[in-house]
Amino acid sequence: MPEELVETKAEAAHPASRPEDEELVRGRLDLGDFEITLCTDGTYLLDGGAMFGVVPKTLWSKRTPADDLNRILLGLNTTIVRTGKHTVLIETGIGNKQTAKMREIHRNQELLPASLAAAGIQPEEIDIVINTHLHFDHCGWNTTLHADGYVTPTFPNARYFAHAGEVAHGHLQLDRDRVSYLSPNYDPLIASGQMTLLTTEGIRENPEIVPGISVEEFPGHTAQMMGVHIESGGQHACYIGDLIPTAHHLDPTWVIAYDLDPLRCIEERKRFLATAIPEEWVVLFTHDHHTPAAKVRLNEKGKPMATSALKGAV
Ligand SMILES: [Zn+2]
Repeated sequence: MPEELVETKAEAAHPASRPEDEELVRGRLDLGDFEITLCTDGTYLLDGGAMFGVVPKTLWSKRTPADDLNRILLGLNTTIVRTGKHTVLIETGIGNKQTAKMREIHRNQELLPASLAAAGIQPEEIDIVINTHLHFDHCGWNTTLHADGYVTPTFPNARYFAHAGEVAHGHLQLDRDRVSYLSPNYDPLIASGQMTLLTTEGIRENPEIVPGISVEEFPGHTAQMMGVHIESGGQHACYIGDLIPTAHHLDPTWVIAYDLDPLRCIEERKRFLATAIPEEWVVLFTHDHHTPAAKVRLNEKGKPMATSALKGAV
C-alpha cells in the first residue's frame, strides 16, 4: 500500500479532546517488506509550557495552540510492525490505571484496545512489545487493570522488552519523576519472566530484537531512553520516543521541560537528524496526534521540519 504524503499544516485550535471524533487508526504504510500500522491510545492534554521548556509561548503557540488552561493536545501513538514473521508493537500508551483525578487532568480516553481492533490486530497475535522507556504514557497498556485490582498482560503471547536502567530508575521513586513510573506497568511482567530487560552493554553487542527491528539508546529525556529502528528493503523508519515527541520538536533546541538532561537531548537530536535527514528516514512521533509519521528536511533557515506527513488511515 503506498504512503499517502501530504504537506504538514499548522494545526487548528482544539477544544478539549472528544473521543467520538478520534480516528482510531492513524495511518498505515509499507516499508520494504514490512507493513506498519499506526494505532493510538487516544489523546491527552499536557501543559504547553512543560512541553516546550524555555521556548517562549509566543513562539510555540503558533505551532500548537493552547486552550484556556494553557494545555496542548498530544497523541499517544503505538506503532505495529508486521514483518511477515513477527508482529511487533512499539509503545502502549497510558492504559487504564489512571486514577479518576489523573484522567480528569489528562482527559485521556484509553482507546488502544479499540484502535487495535479497528486495525484488525488481535492482542494475541502480538509477539513482541518494545517500550522506549517506562514513563506512564508509554507503557500503560503493557498490562490491563481489572476490577478486582489485579493486572494481567494485555498481550499474553508477547515477549516484552525494556531497558534495565529504566526499571532501576523507576524503582528509585525520586522526587523529580516518581509520578511518571507506575510499577504495575512492568513489575508483574518482570516477575513472570515475560519482560526481558536490556542493558547498555547488551544493546551495544546486539541491538537486534528480531530481524529488521533494533533498538538504540538516545539518552537525555531519560538516561537510557531507546529509539526503535525499523529497516526493510533499503528503507528505514525510526520510532524516536520522547527524544523528539512531536514534529514541533524537530528544532534541536526545542527540548521539553521533562527532559532529565536537556543538553544531552540537544546533542542526541543533532546526532539523530544528521542521519535521518540525508537517508530520508520515516520518523515516527510518539505524541504527535496529527503528524504521527513524517520525513524531515532542512528549511531555508537550516531548521529541520516535517516535509511530508502520513495522515489518517488509508
Ligand atoms: Zn517520557
